[in-house]
Amino acid sequence: MDTKWVTPIGDEGLYEINTGKWRTFRPVIDCTKCTSCAICAFFCPVSAVHRQQQDSTKLCFDLNYCKGCGICAKECPRQAITMIREEEA
Ligand code: SF4
Ligand code: SF4
Repeated sequence: MDTKWVTPIGDEGLYEINTGKWRTFRPVIDCTKCTSCAICAFFCPVSAVHRQQQDSTKLCFDLNYCKGCGICAKECPRQAITMIREEEA
């Protein structure tokens, strides 16, 4: 089963919760400010912040699961993350 977030409750049994569908804002990282400390990843409630496969010093967001809550932007000590409206992305 290729799912990340499942819940054991409900008549359907296990099913995927695709939290990215809730998003109205998305996070964007300013790489000139980011120090790759990964504090944003620590605070993300859905573990949607990952290190890039091509360059592990850079982070990226899994938009299938990022729900646009903005916690990462609030917790970033460098103010390197900006939340922008999906329509503007
Ligand atoms: S918390 Fe800010 S500085 Fe640290 S990795 Fe995330 S975006 Fe970069
Ligand atoms: S906006 Fe929220 S869900 Fe998306 S990466 Fe940041 S902390 Fe995670």
